[in-house]
Amino acid sequence: MEKNDLKALIEEIYENLLERINSDENATKGQVIAYLKDAIEVVSNINDKDIDSIEHAKEAFNNSYKELVKQSLTSYKNTNDKFGELTQLNKETMDQCGEKHINLETLTKKFNEIQAHMTEEVKKANEVISELTDKVKVLEQTSNLDPLTKVLNRRALISYLKEVCANKDIPYSLHVLMIDIDNFKSINDNYGHITGDKILIFISNILRKALRDGDKIFRFGGEEFTIILNRNSDEQSEAIAERLLKLISSNNLIYMGQKISITASIGLTKFLQNDTPDSLMARADKALYASKNNGKNMVSKVCE
Ligand code: GH3
Ligand code: MG
Ligand code: MG
Repeated sequence: MEKNDLKALIEEIYENLLERINSDENATKGQVIAYLKDAIEVVSNINDKDIDSIEHAKEAFNNSYKELVKQSLTSYKNTNDKFGELTQLNKETMDQCGEKHINLETLTKKFNEIQAHMTEEVKKANEVISELTDKVKVLEQTSNLDPLTKVLNRRALISYLKEVCANKDIPYSLHVLMIDIDNFKSINDNYGHITGDKILIFISNILRKALRDGDKIFRFGGEEFTIILNRNSDEQSEAIAERLLKLISSNNLIYMGQKISITASIGLTKFLQNDTPDSLMARADKALYASKNNGKNMVSKVCE
């Protein structure tokens, strides 16, 4: 079972909710709760089998999102109806104040009823919020997506490699690219950490666009990415790696009118029989080290 993209989904929901609150002058607590409740329902109804790649997750998200909007509208209506009832009750009670002989006892009783009703609603709302917060936390903890770049994270890579290495007879070739951005420390120093973050997102998007759906992109950590290519020859994999380097170095990123020069280095290896995740990644690392030592912005191979 893969839940790689659930975190992205939750973040989308979160951003969307904030947008709604910001754009609605009279956003109520009830609406927020209804929205979150529906969101959780949608997330719980996602068929995990549908999510085996980022593209599928996006599709699942889009469908879920439509469903979410539909459910939210119904829920908003219910919440509004409830508030409408309370307002009507309030109005009737207030109208009594206009009568000549005010029955103070009845009036107090009615106001107390309304008050109790409101308190009960708020209590229920708080319970739902705390329940939803817990669920969102669990979803976040079990997620396999990197929150900044929205590519798969290191945890996902480790479990993927374990699975691959446990299956000794893979009937096709599998290549690993270890990508490390060159001189990223000085990019941060020159342009600031926030620009550095944006560059990481930018690079992830380049990788995502350039690769096929069956290929997998992971953020290994910091400014390092790992890519798993399926069903390519050694030559094809090398050509893909070279193409990625060109795409990265020919970017058009401008900072205060000045072009930011970004390059990366790649270490390439392939899955060999009896590999463990460690032996496979050690070869990729060795290849990357060679690229760094030989001048950066290049691909090096270690395939045995
Ligand atoms: P090399 O060409 O040898 O790879 O040099 P480098 O400067 O890229 O490598 P080094 O390991 O010295 O520095 C990596 C830098 O990446 C340091 C760290 O501040 C930065 N970094 C790591 N994670 C992030 C992040 O999430 N955002 C930003 N903006 N910077 C990060
Ligand atoms: Mg590094
Ligand atoms: Mg680096």
